[in-house]
Amino acid sequence: MKVLVVIPCIKPNYEAGFSAPLAWLFSNHLDRVFGVYASELSRELINSFDVFVVELNWFTELYEFTLIVKAIKQYNRKARILFGGLFSSIAYREVFEICDVDYYVRGDAELPLRMFLDDFPVRETPNFIGRDFESKLRYVFTQKEFKEIDYAVEWFPEYVRRRDSGFMSGDVEMYALPMIITTKSGCSCIHEGCDYCMGSKADVIGDIYGRASLVMSNDDLNRAISKVSEKYSDYCVYINSEYRYDFGGRYYKGCAHIEVDSPICSSDIESLFSSFERCVMLVPVYAEGIMGKSIVRNCHEMLALQDELHTIKFAAYTYHRELLKGIPDESVKYNLDTAFAPGWAHWDSYSVFKTALANSTRIYDYYARNQRERFSFELLK
Ligand code: SF4
Repeated sequence: MKVLVVIPCIKPNYEAGFSAPLAWLFSNHLDRVFGVYASELSRELINSFDVFVVELNWFTELYEFTLIVKAIKQYNRKARILFGGLFSSIAYREVFEICDVDYYVRGDAELPLRMFLDDFPVRETPNFIGRDFESKLRYVFTQKEFKEIDYAVEWFPEYVRRRDSGFMSGDVEMYALPMIITTKSGCSCIHEGCDYCMGSKADVIGDIYGRASLVMSNDDLNRAISKVSEKYSDYCVYINSEYRYDFGGRYYKGCAHIEVDSPICSSDIESLFSSFERCVMLVPVYAEGIMGKSIVRNCHEMLALQDELHTIKFAAYTYHRELLKGIPDESVKYNLDTAFAPGWAHWDSYSVFKTALANSTRIYDYYARNQRERFSFELLK
């Protein structure tokens, strides 16, 4: 089966990026899967595929997603559309109601997607949901499968092209794909109710996946980093679990962009730096996760560990800037302020479908008006 994967563009500060799990889901099917941004869609392209996967990972993509589905079905009556992503997992019923989509995979998608791409009948595929059927949640990702994840982005040539020609700057650069994520589904950082990535919604995650969040072991993380660092000069490691990792005795080539959303101390950073040829670290300045309250006090000590090839940036809310006195501006990656955070973060912005749709429409309109030269949504009307 040949599949066109369509990535919406409306993700403030992350327009060129896409969901990290989506990247690895296709890594073994590079010959059959072709990725494009929504802004690249054309009638010809839509007509040359019958099966489409459309990302709906962040609620900000929702309105654009409805337009993508409309365009695909308008120009190709035979098209079958599968959608998925984090936001879809809480909103798929409503998406089926308002969009002419065909399938959704509930919970873990590694095995179901493989079966789908190998033409296995959808009604018999675990976790698949269609308009008139709902397969049982028979597949759950297990700890041993961390070893089997392969990381590849070549199925999405425009991403690779933009990346290689230096499109990355700001936030996008920090989250270079492929990205290794240490907690599968949700987050296992210590935090005080962080809603980014639904971290504080363990019960919701449990219902969706039929299991609790899974955390990568030290061996699995090191194995994953070996794989990506052999192939890519830039890659991202997102540590959204307790920092219990040890890279001692290893040396990884290339540039690792590492975010650690859990408490980490200077000696951990020192040892980590010695194992990576180059490294850009992003450390939120909260002792208990990105939306925590207690500010870590040893930022200066951490900063002193920097050298030409290893740097640290801190993420903080603007109203905490005072507490980062003496930390130079270039070492604060971005300040999450109250204007930025609701767009991505708060459960209230996306947990009610109507609100998510209204917010995503507003953001889409803003892009359509102000970013025309970057995103021509020719086909999306
Ligand atoms: S602490 Fe980090 S990983 Fe966890 S939900 Fe918040 S942003 Fe996501």
